[in-house]
Amino acid sequence: MLKLRDLVGEFEKPKFFAYKQNICAHSRNEIVGCNACVEICSAEAISSEKDRNQIKVNPNLCIGCGACTTVCPTGALTYAYPRASEQGVRLKTLLSTYAKAGGAHPVLLFHSQGSGQQAVEALGRAAQLQKTVKGVPANVIPLALWHTASVGLDLWLSAVALGAEQVTVLVTDEEAPAYREGLAEQMRVGQAILNGLGYAGVHFHLLQAQTAGGAGHCPPGCQPANPGAGPAHGARQPGPFRGGARKAQYA
Ligand code: SF4
Ligand code: SF4
Repeated sequence: MLKLRDLVGEFEKPKFFAYKQNICAHSRNEIVGCNACVEICSAEAISSEKDRNQIKVNPNLCIGCGACTTVCPTGALTYAYPRASEQGVRLKTLLSTYAKAGGAHPVLLFHSQGSGQQAVEALGRAAQLQKTVKGVPANVIPLALWHTASVGLDLWLSAVALGAEQVTVLVTDEEAPAYREGLAEQMRVGQAILNGLGYAGVHFHLLQAQTAGGAGHCPPGCQPANPGAGPAHGARQPGPFRGGARKAQYA
């Protein structure tokens, strides 16, 4: 450990976000209109520059959780590594491959590459060892993310348009409470949109893992945060992916 003190070097760190000041609603005439990204960032990487009608992100403090991009209502902050359009192509490939193989009622399960991945794997091991434990259902497609808050409403709705019946986000103790609340709020908005469009059932679920890496009951090691969830009716015909760099381009 003492040797660590003397280690000097450089490392590359990706810039996880892109910011467009011209569509940011942070402030006009020094009156704050939106502060969502500043409030949710647990790394305190975002600060207000209301006299310049903008926010400022310190890339050195940013850990790339993506929560600011998920709660941003205008798309002024977007996730850049990977971009939403790239994730969208990934979703489309997954769901179309699943459908071509004869799969039905797909459910996407977003989880983190860290504790979320451990929880899913622990459940799989437990299901092999104990008859009473069920593994991840065959229609559930796990998808690892750098951070569960990095994917939000634009991609969740795109997933439903592409044929997913439900989108589930698995959270563990890894995620800060503010991020879980932010995801839950975004899910309420998404659910209202789908209900307004005539989609029956509950399409978005936020699941809390029972333990950081432990096994549990299906769905994957978690307790549903929305226990009243009913069967969801997905899109009759998967639509083409039209995702772009801005949230407003998702339709
Ligand atoms: S990606 Fe996460 S850590 Fe980085 S600025 Fe946004 S909220 Fe903060
Ligand atoms: S959440 Fe989006 S619109 Fe609101 S202040 Fe931050 S960047 Fe601007």
